[in-house]
Amino acid sequence: MINNLTVILIFISIALFLGLLIVVTHGLLPKEKDKPKKVQEILEIMPKRDCGACGYAGCDKYAEAIAENPEVALKNKCPFMLRDKEKLFELEKTLGIKIGTKKI
Ligand code: SF4
Repeated sequence: MINNLTVILIFISIALFLGLLIVVTHGLLPKEKDKPKKVQEILEIMPKRDCGACGYAGCDKYAEAIAENPEVALKNKCPFMLRDKEKLFELEKTLGIKIGTKKI
């Protein structure tokens, strides 16, 4: 017969196991600093609104896409970058392309 103390010990063991699992999983996930240098440079320029207007799930995904293929920045433009001339110039310099100031 299982008494109350045994049940409590089982729940504590499960909680400890799940806590340990979270800590280990968190340690395995990629961190911001693990991203390639180019992606980090682009992310520093991004508005970080994560609105999805560029067609990507957020600024992180957009930065990864344009770091891999700068042509993406010509097709899928971030409206916030287009309004900020300084940031746009900085992004153009980083990517080595002219994105332009054409309104979308
Ligand atoms: S449109 Fe701009 S602010 Fe919005 S998710 Fe894309 S890059 Fe980020």
